[in-house]
Parts: sequence; C-alpha cells; structure tokens
Amino acid sequence: MQNQFQVRQEMCDVGHRIWMRGYCAGNEGNHSVRIAEDRVLCTPTGVSKGFLTPDQITVVDMNGKQVDTHNKMKRTSEVLLHLQIYKARKDVKAVVHSHPPHATAFAMANIPIPEGIHPEAEVFLGKVPMAKYTTPSYKELGESVVALITKDTNTVMMGNHGSVCFDTSLISAYYKLEILDAYCRILLLTRQLGKINQLSQQEMVDLLKVKEKFGMPDQRLACAPTGCIGADNQPFLAGFDAPTQSVCACRSDGHIESTGPVITEDKLEDLVQKMTDQIMAGLR
Ligand SMILES: [Zn+2]
Repeated sequence: MQNQFQVRQEMCDVGHRIWMRGYCAGNEGNHSVRIAEDRVLCTPTGVSKGFLTPDQITVVDMNGKQVDTHNKMKRTSEVLLHLQIYKARKDVKAVVHSHPPHATAFAMANIPIPEGIHPEAEVFLGKVPMAKYTTPSYKELGESVVALITKDTNTVMMGNHGSVCFDTSLISAYYKLEILDAYCRILLLTRQLGKINQLSQQEMVDLLKVKEKFGMPDQRLACAPTGCIGADNQPFLAGFDAPTQSVCACRSDGHIESTGPVITEDKLEDLVQKMTDQIMAGLR
C-alpha cells in the first residue's frame, strides 16, 4: 500500500501527464484520491496540473471542508463533484476531471459518445453517459453526474464542459481519460472518412462476454441480444454522408448496413434539372 507521500507524488505525476497530453489548459482540471473514510487528497485551485508539487496537494473531509489549514493552497471548488461520486460509489478511490479536447468536442455539440463501434472503448469505458450542462462548481453538477452512474460506469461526459473518470486507483482512472480521448479522436477521424461500420449484435454479445470473463461485468450484456445498444448513436451517425442505421434497425442476421447516400431536396432538384436538360437537348 502507498503511503501518503507516494499518493501525493503520484497525483503530481498524473497531473503532469494530463498537462503534457493537453487534456487541461492553464489551471483547468482537478483530480483526487480517497485515502480514508473521511479523507480525500485533492489538487489545489489555481495551479497548472503540469507543475504540481506534493506539498500543494490539499486535504478535505467528505463534506468538502479543507482540513490542512496550514496549506497556502486552496482546494479546488470542483471537489464537491468528486465527493458526490465517492459517496455514490464506495468502490471508487480516485476521480479525474479534465477537458480532453476530442471528447469535449462531443460535449460541446451535445452528441452522445456512440457505442458498439470500438472494442477497446467497449471493454475499458463501456457506456459513457452525457450529463446536461450545469454551472461548474455548483452542487447540481455533481447531482447531474451521479444520477447517471450505475455500478458499471467509470466515465461520464458533462455537457459543454468535459469528462470525469473514476476507478479503484488513480492510474486506472487516468487511463480511462486517455482511452476516452483516443476513442473520440478516432471517431472524429472516422467521420472525416465519411463511413463507419458498427459491430453487429452478435459481435457485441461476444465482446461483452469476453469483458465479463476478464472480471468486468457489463449490464449491457443483458440488452445486447435485443439490440438496444447504440440507442443514442443517431446524433453521431447523422453526421456521415451515408447514414448508418441504428443497432435496433438491424438486418435479421444482426449485421448493420449502411443505408446508402440520402438524396437531399437540393440534390433531387439538381437531378431533375439535369434530366430535363438532357430530354430537351434530345428533342432539339
Ligand atoms: Zn472543469
């Protein structure tokens, strides 16, 4: 088990990675580690996560009261969000809140992170819910996040804001953040290619079974055979030239197919005009 100095050191190391990877600019973001029933170490406000030192880490109780009164640094105001997550999930030992650019783009556009596309994201993140926008540092922010947390959840997006990842250790909560932003980056690149393939229901069932075997049960396994995974995918899929059907509207063998390009009214008008021109030219 780590002693408190090691935990503080690790919080600085993780802060440095967050800053290096551009998940937080300026003094943004915060992370915390629960070290005892009523004690949480959390990053201070007003400091870049890239330049944290162990003595700057603050100590709060479960009500958010800073208990290390000698510390010149003040705890982050967003620790209230962290504490609400700790209260909701006894197994959670660390929380990382960031503004990872690729994932946050989805939060800005209010597009839910799609599911049933990337095996890595399915295994390590699972379903990533999106909370409605609320004012940062208000207790409503934590309430909106906690309302979406099930026993399987480890990552929640916050509308027009960023992400919050949590797990049984700081490093694994941080890895969730890395995986989230890498996944969203891949999604945005896929969108540039204009075409996307969703996993079939059977492929999702197989994947979630493997996940369960690795000790990560996923409630969606019960839903996979009926095809409700991907029910929130439409806002993301709608951005493709050739919209892909939702998982629910699958072919009988469970494979998802592109419906092909949709002819918009403008294109239709254009087409009719071209045909008319050709007919008129033929008549002449
Ligand atoms: Zn924030």
